[in-house]
Amino acid sequence: MANIRFNALKELNTRTFKTPTPPAAAISEYFGELSFGLDKMKTALAPETFKKVEENIRKGKKIDKEMADAIAVAAKSWAMSKGITHYTHWFQPLTGGTAEKHDAFFNPQKGIEEFKGSALIQQEPDASSFPNGGIRSTFEARGYTAWDPSSPMFIMGGTLCIPTIFISYTGEALDNKSPLLRAMEAVDKASVKVCKLFDRNVSRVTASLGCEQEYFVIDRALFKARPDLVMSNRTLFGHSPARGQQLDDHYFGSIPTRVYNFMREFEIECLRLGIPVSTRHNEVAPSQFEVAPIFEEINVANDHNQLMMDVMDRVAAKHDLAVLFHEKPFAGLNGTGKHNNWSLITDTGVNLFQPRTSARENLLFLTFFVNTIKAVYDNADLLRASIASAGNDHRLGANEAPPAIISVFIGSQLTAVLDELEKNGNVQVEKGENLYMKLGIDKIPSIILDNTDRNRTSPFAFTGNKFEFRAVGGQANVGVPMSVLNLIVADQLNKFTSDVEKETKKGTEKRLAIINVLRSYIKDSKSVRFEGDGYSDEWVKEAEKRGLSNVKDTPRALDAYLTDEVVKMYERNDVLTKVEIEARHEILLENYVMNIQIESRVMGDLVNNHIIPTAIAYQNKLLTNAKGLAEIGVDNSGVKRTIEELSRFINEAKKGVDNMLEERKRLNKIEDLREKAIGYCDDVKMKYFDDIRYAVDKLELIVDDEDWPLVKYREMLFLR
Ligand code: ADP
Ligand code: MG
Repeated sequence: MANIRFNALKELNTRTFKTPTPPAAAISEYFGELSFGLDKMKTALAPETFKKVEENIRKGKKIDKEMADAIAVAAKSWAMSKGITHYTHWFQPLTGGTAEKHDAFFNPQKGIEEFKGSALIQQEPDASSFPNGGIRSTFEARGYTAWDPSSPMFIMGGTLCIPTIFISYTGEALDNKSPLLRAMEAVDKASVKVCKLFDRNVSRVTASLGCEQEYFVIDRALFKARPDLVMSNRTLFGHSPARGQQLDDHYFGSIPTRVYNFMREFEIECLRLGIPVSTRHNEVAPSQFEVAPIFEEINVANDHNQLMMDVMDRVAAKHDLAVLFHEKPFAGLNGTGKHNNWSLITDTGVNLFQPRTSARENLLFLTFFVNTIKAVYDNADLLRASIASAGNDHRLGANEAPPAIISVFIGSQLTAVLDELEKNGNVQVEKGENLYMKLGIDKIPSIILDNTDRNRTSPFAFTGNKFEFRAVGGQANVGVPMSVLNLIVADQLNKFTSDVEKETKKGTEKRLAIINVLRSYIKDSKSVRFEGDGYSDEWVKEAEKRGLSNVKDTPRALDAYLTDEVVKMYERNDVLTKVEIEARHEILLENYVMNIQIESRVMGDLVNNHIIPTAIAYQNKLLTNAKGLAEIGVDNSGVKRTIEELSRFINEAKKGVDNMLEERKRLNKIEDLREKAIGYCDDVKMKYFDDIRYAVDKLELIVDDEDWPLVKYREMLFLR
């Protein structure tokens, strides 16, 4: 029988470099050529219509039927001029990833190409197969997609794609985009109110996001030869290579040519779609890389991140590569995250997280800064829940990964400023600019930018003019954590406004009222701030002393969604209703169970059908050898020991897999989803995965390399 591993390895010799031919033009000439944004609408629409459309999009207002008709006609002609015949509503169901349903422009009754505003605005996908957490079955059995005009349409795969939300007929959100849009609105309103304490001219605040996306790249044939990678996106077995990331020589080293060609090509594709990809480099682990687009308005940034992952997937195939976004595809190596750089920017052009040179402006900065820290402190469990997934559990709280503790890093300069502000008890009597000086906020030095980027172990770090939420997983739809972040900040800012009002009603001068409220927040939220090594064991102990949570697994982390306070917060900010939250919670638990179930089954298959047969065949060879040696009276103790070891690990793997199967059978009878998910976590994953893997990885070291069926780590990871 042919060994799948060697067949795959043989394919490597046939690889050729596929150098992309970049468009002859400068980037500026093809950037966004496949995206139907405001620039294109401007040339295609009548000036008055465009003015209205542009204003409504900018202000987040509704696009009416008339405008939609005009836009539909313009979009159709533009798409047809590029040879496009079909359109689709493009949405982000709760399973993760994206979904589409294609329709032709062609109307066979009329015999013409047609695209109406109504088709742009709304579509009814045959969506019964998308998860809904019981919503649509209790209400109506259908859902529909509705156009999101704030994110540009684009052409991909020969189709005009229209970014949409996906909701049930009764209006419940069934996707990841809807709550993000609602949270953006909440943070906009709340921020504007706070800004008005400082500057009456602010009328809109938008949240921005720059996503740094990490990923692994391996040869496609090797990927296909690993059933675990194909089925569960991560390797369930595999011994660490002799040379892992200990040497750190991969970081910022030169990029292998095949990967470089792949990067150039997907970057060009992204740029044509209007995704502003900019930096590319190697990451810490071998075969790990990163791409970071320039930040955009958060909803567009999320769409672009989803789109970029699709593009990368497709382009990788062309280069005989496979790209992996899983949070921990390889044990013992760095995991894969998606750093979410987030800030709030006013329509007057001020980044609210940018420290300024004048004291008054710095009070505005400090207001947003301190409120964000307070929001993170008060809602650490919800933030943790927002990044919970079976994949991310391997990054957060696993043996080699950062802990699942949510803390905030702000750097020594700002720590000093906050300490000063907190300590100084006599601000009431201080007046004028002296006050700021005394508080140390008159000049927050501009070196902050260089000074705050040092700590790479913090899950939530201030990096000079933005916060960076680093605990987000590589496969995540960032609409989830970003809707939570914007929600909690919105809610906190509303509290702040009312706390300040309470003070001023008592007769306190506005500026002092602001400072007093901030001081109380600084005190309250102090324990969430941590400047040290977030990956150290000391921090885990210290955090426990401070009373910070460290929830290690998804099923338990998800509980945070259902607490009374959280549900109320979602409802009072109009982000999600209780029904919607419960539906989401259920779907997330279902996803979790499915994930572990699949991994567990794949483990069983691999052990029973690949590993054990191979180990036994090898053992039989040794047996013949041992008997032969004994016959001629030669010492066979070495061979015997190997035979014994093989038996031991074969038995261990077999026992683990059998017992795990029994456990699954027991758990599958459990109705309650939470209980089932916890069972899958504790009694399947935690109880068996590591032990089975240990036995299999030992066998890998013992069995003849010529016989081993699974592509080895060293073969996958050192791509040339
Ligand atoms: P790092 O040092 O963390 O690897 P990068 O330069 O790779 O930094 O990525 C930083 C990301 O932060 C980029 O996507 C960048 O566009 C984004 N960014 C910069 N300023 C802001 C901001 N004000 N709001 C949101 N994102 C920002
Ligand atoms: Mg970063």
